[in-house]
Amino acid sequence: MARVLFINAGSEGHVNPTVGVVQELISRGEEVVYFTVDAFHERIEKTGATVRTIDGQQFIKAFISGGRNYLPERINGLLHTTDIVIPSVLEQIRGEHFDYIIHDSMFGCGRLLAQILKRPAITSCTSFAQTKESFDEMMKGISEKIPAEIMKPIQDEYQRLTQRVKENYEVNIQSPYEVFCNPASLAIVYTTREFQPSGETFDHTYKFVGPSISPRFTSADFDFAAIKGKNPIYISLGTVLNDAIDFYKLCMEAFGNTGHTVVMSVGDKVRLSDLGDIPKNFVVKSYVPQTEVLPHAKLFITHGGMNSAHEGLYYGVPLVLLPQSADQPIVAEQAARLGAGISLQMQGMTARQLREMAEHVLTNPSFQKAAANVQESFQRAGGYRQAVDEIFAWKRQYQIDN
Ligand code: UDP
Repeated sequence: MARVLFINAGSEGHVNPTVGVVQELISRGEEVVYFTVDAFHERIEKTGATVRTIDGQQFIKAFISGGRNYLPERINGLLHTTDIVIPSVLEQIRGEHFDYIIHDSMFGCGRLLAQILKRPAITSCTSFAQTKESFDEMMKGISEKIPAEIMKPIQDEYQRLTQRVKENYEVNIQSPYEVFCNPASLAIVYTTREFQPSGETFDHTYKFVGPSISPRFTSADFDFAAIKGKNPIYISLGTVLNDAIDFYKLCMEAFGNTGHTVVMSVGDKVRLSDLGDIPKNFVVKSYVPQTEVLPHAKLFITHGGMNSAHEGLYYGVPLVLLPQSADQPIVAEQAARLGAGISLQMQGMTARQLREMAEHVLTNPSFQKAAANVQESFQRAGGYRQAVDEIFAWKRQYQIDN
């Protein structure tokens, strides 16, 4: 049995795929101490891991303080989180031994903690993977579009922050890539090589294990009797940028009082009472047990979050994708490229257009067939069990005893 230090911070998207991995590690004899923000305490505890927490409010405040408009600002935001995460983790594990670390590829300063603790580490990649080359190329493209007078202070801030982090924690930071992608000697990526853009460019240290879907241990209450035998359309914009009351109203206009049953997740920022009259064929919730509803769904209208799109396709559900930001346009492009959905612009879309596009996907069997093909490849990839097989193979390589 090895002791594993799991470093993550927050957000459903970064935590959900790890739930099955942690449970599987524990069932195969590992002991896991898992750091996350308070909001996920209960969910992770139910896996059997020992949970320790980082203050979620402080973490988000630090992350956002870097700025929210441009990717280079978010890199600075991650550097700001070092002072929230690193002292807290070190304090809470003082005197303990860990055999290896698994850390999120973005949140939690995992690469720095691995350096400080001098432990071998694995990165848990809940978005698409990036090589240093692809990341640098992307950064170059983004930076060129940012006006020089905005870019300069962001770059100066990066220099200042990295210098401070290096001095404070006696660590090495060689590039923004290290801060944003937290590379390690093994990367567990929760997609397939086929779905990953430029999948062939990744070496054997990247293991594409497919979506990691397992029981979530959430306490979401949902009346499955209401959708029994009805194959609903499921609508969700995920858990981050989901404050979109006009869009939810548009959906009610598009599908209200039609022959479709619709399940709609509106997130916790929209009050159900502000939505007006909810049509009888709608089930509207702040939070839906998504991976339990998707197996019943005939269509998923999604923002194209990495997890949501993968979960939909894992269950063979064709997608209408409305990408907003981050990796969503790339996710949408990949799903559309494989014919498993269509990608639309949400801005300016009318209720009629949405209904017509949904009908187009529902009545054209090619979408269903392509989604079934992706489903087959996703399920074959092995998910969290394959992830743990890869982790154990890596452990043997590093001579970490069982
Ligand atoms: N999710 C859920 N119920 C909801 C909304 C979201 O279970 O009502 C889960 C969903 O299954 C997914 C995650 O939250 O695992 C959202 O992650 P994603 O990467 O799709 O989007 P984000 O929230 O990061 O934008």
